[in-house]
Amino acid sequence: MKKDICAYTYEQLQTEIQALGEQRFRAKQIYEWLHVRLAEDFSEMTNLSKELRGRLNEQYEILPVVMLEKQESRLDGTCKFLFRLHDGHVVESVWMRYDYGISVCISSQVGCRMGCRFCASGIGGLERNLSPSEMLGQVYRLQKLMGERISNVVVMGTGEPLDNYDNLLTFLKILSGEHGLHISQRSITVSTCGIVPKMYELAKEHLQITLALSLHGATQEKRKRLMPVANAWELEEVLAACDDYFRETGRRITFEYSLIHGVNDTPEDARELIRILKPRNCHLNLIPVNAVKEYHLKQPDRKNARNFKNHLEKYGINVTLRRELGADIDGACGQLRRSFLHTQTEEADL
Ligand code: SAH
Repeated sequence: MKKDICAYTYEQLQTEIQALGEQRFRAKQIYEWLHVRLAEDFSEMTNLSKELRGRLNEQYEILPVVMLEKQESRLDGTCKFLFRLHDGHVVESVWMRYDYGISVCISSQVGCRMGCRFCASGIGGLERNLSPSEMLGQVYRLQKLMGERISNVVVMGTGEPLDNYDNLLTFLKILSGEHGLHISQRSITVSTCGIVPKMYELAKEHLQITLALSLHGATQEKRKRLMPVANAWELEEVLAACDDYFRETGRRITFEYSLIHGVNDTPEDARELIRILKPRNCHLNLIPVNAVKEYHLKQPDRKNARNFKNHLEKYGINVTLRRELGADIDGACGQLRRSFLHTQTEEADL
């Protein structure tokens, strides 16, 4: 079987290429072709001899991430993509324009096994983990398709990144490394539902990435109703892991909180949120929940959401109410992939 050449860090690729009897500088050239020039075939690597290109092609492969579908929001230019992987699985990614640059949101797994009660990604369970090169492949494909330099990457698409920890770490190292696209770690965000032991592990890496914690409930009871992962770790344990991350890295945690009408948007919820966030140096991101066909959850109306935010602000919480991008396309996590799989099944039924 051919080896996945994009999954090697710079140092690992040097070892690989030296083992082929080649000099170190060849590894630098190849790495640049893969991670800066975003080559998709060894034949593009014209500063290597034909013979070496041939040998690379025999032993290694560059796994394709192919665009299947693109939805563009007419409201704000946000684009949502469906990509096909080498084994036919599909994942989704999002491309967004902000004042500060281009941000992309990528998936870390095919499906997800966390089963959050408002999220479309978990409905079909987990299919498999994505390799580092498949995570990179989404970024690279988006950069090539859209032709603009990507400045920010958020791992907030389908999947739980800390449930695919080793691959995530390699991905982060290659993405931010000086020999690759060199995206600043401060411009990378990893979002987790709160896999406590992995949060401690990540803190020990001392990366400068932002860790986002999906909170969604400000008490253990509330959280448990929305997120099965809360059965494994108490809210207090999750918050202690967040504090540890901040201590180890100096990076403020972003808490994410999807506002769901009548479920977690009451004045009592706001009080509980203030109680846990007030003592912490953090940022709170409120996101009106995206309606998912399979669940009966409603967004609070805009006025209520704003009141909720203002109330928290009055108590000194650093809070933003996320501007909704791509509201007219299948915006929420896992929705595009689900509707795609759905049409496929319907077609198969015909
Ligand atoms: N598994 C990771 C990352 C993927 S989800 C995590 O849980 O953080 C990225 C964010 O979108 C999470 O905060 C998730 O809870 C939230 N999310 C999922 N479905 C949503 C929906 N229907 N509406 C609003 N936010 C949603």
